[in-house]
Amino acid sequence: MALRTGSQYLAALRDGRTVIHDGRAVDVSEAPGFAATAATVAQFYDFQNLASMAEIMSYTSEDGERVGMAFIEPRSREDLRRRAAAYAAWAEVSCGLMARSPDYMSTCLAALGGISRVFEGVDPVLAARARKIYIDARTRDLCYTHTFSEPFKVLPPASEGSEPAPSCRVVRETADGLVISGARALATLAPFSDMNFDLPGGALCVREGQPWLAGFVMPSSAPGLRWICRDTLGGSGREASLSSRCDEMDCVALFDECLIPWEQVYLLVPADTPFPAMPLVMAGLQHHVVVRCVAKTRLFVGLAHLIAESSRVGQFVNVRAKIGEMIGFLNTMEAFAMAAIEGAIEDPETGHCVPHPASVEAGVTMYSEFHGKMVHHLLDLGGSRYMSTPQAATLDLLGGLVEDHFRGRAESGRDNVALFRLAWDLVGSGWGSRHNLYERFHFGDATLRKSAAYLHHDMDGAVGMVRRLLKLPAAGGFSTGAEG
Ligand SMILES: Cc1cc2nc3c(=O)[nH]c(=O)nc-3n(C[C@H](O)[C@H](O)[C@H](O)COP(=O)(O)OP(=O)(O)OC[C@H]3O[C@@H](n4cnc5c(N)ncnc54)[C@H](O)[C@@H]3O)c2cc1C
Repeated sequence: MALRTGSQYLAALRDGRTVIHDGRAVDVSEAPGFAATAATVAQFYDFQNLASMAEIMSYTSEDGERVGMAFIEPRSREDLRRRAAAYAAWAEVSCGLMARSPDYMSTCLAALGGISRVFEGVDPVLAARARKIYIDARTRDLCYTHTFSEPFKVLPPASEGSEPAPSCRVVRETADGLVISGARALATLAPFSDMNFDLPGGALCVREGQPWLAGFVMPSSAPGLRWICRDTLGGSGREASLSSRCDEMDCVALFDECLIPWEQVYLLVPADTPFPAMPLVMAGLQHHVVVRCVAKTRLFVGLAHLIAESSRVGQFVNVRAKIGEMIGFLNTMEAFAMAAIEGAIEDPETGHCVPHPASVEAGVTMYSEFHGKMVHHLLDLGGSRYMSTPQAATLDLLGGLVEDHFRGRAESGRDNVALFRLAWDLVGSGWGSRHNLYERFHFGDATLRKSAAYLHHDMDGAVGMVRRLLKLPAAGGFSTGAEG
């Protein structure tokens, strides 16, 4: 199939998958609150098929097929540049508001393709399966969701230290595969995906008395798999064009004796097996995040400017400073996206060219704060105007009066109300709040990641500089407090 079209994607959604929302199983290709997002994902696939987009959105694989650019195994900075251009093109389609557009997980699958080479030293059977899973995803242009963590994890008391065993576990191993039961979180885009990629989060099974990691993929319609949805959050109408089209949905996956055939198990190793190639997965995904966030930040800046213009509050220095700060965030994210490529490193184990890990990690961590600040600034710029925005039907009823009392400096009353309703959709609605939570948590809590950045940073250069100023010997004496 190689490059899928939107209609092929939509047809594949009608496969009997079990998606449960508000007490009922729903057909996501038709159900209110779901169908518009399915159409947005379909739009991505149609977009990549536009003749004008062919060079940006696809490449010719070693099989001679035209395949999605995000599936590329990057071997050079030029490959990373091409992949980032494809990320940027899709991000533009949704203004960066579909964080889990299919290219996100395609990047993960491509990393698995590279990691399969590392697996060869551990277990050649796993290596071959991992490679096959990657090639299958690329050839069929599949849309993946992923699960990793524990829903409603309850930690043991600090004195006991260790992590609780995951509720999701291998209940049996059979000749056909692993049988899985339990729950996993949090699968964004799950109702709209073809497949689920379960990342090895916690030891899912015990073999020979030892905890083992299991990693597997499975169709989103697998027997025994239920997707449990949160509330739908999309609005309706012209001013909710963002939330109505881009409600990605987050689900808890409930596995009830799901059989994972052996060929879908890409990892089954003792829990203490080291995986030096894991940063490869992280850096690729984080590069996608950084590029997407450039588009999203541009949307924030555009809204902030138009809102300031609407009431002429842009004449005040405090308002200008806020918008200027947002422009700084935009420039920073663009710089991270470029630094990821310019500072890319060759991974000798996989042969992949990896986006500069420190740049993309810093970009993702900082964006969790940038985003919160931009929400705050946008609310600040609009004030009570957000609550002075009647519905379209009321505007119809009021007719000419709307022009007298609801217009902005340059816009008609109707367009001015639409501007504020659009901005409210992004920063004040339930969907907007979910976006803010997403940017804070989707890659793990930023506080913990900042702490980890400190613990793992090579301090030699920084400490050496201070020691030089103090004319102290080159090493020893000081402690960051982070060791041990
Ligand atoms: C909208 C959304 C979509 C998501 N989509 C996906 C997805 O598609 N796939 C997926 O796998 N995951 C997804 N995630 C889950 C994401 O991976 C988790 O949110 C993330 O790993 C953090 O875990 P947590 O939410 O359980 O928070 P926790 O880690 O439990 O953190 C909660 C609070 O406790 C504090 N805390 C926790 N542990 C410590 C500690 N050791 N020391 C100090 N403080 C601590 C944190 O600082 C934080 O304030 C999504 C999350 C969100 C919000």
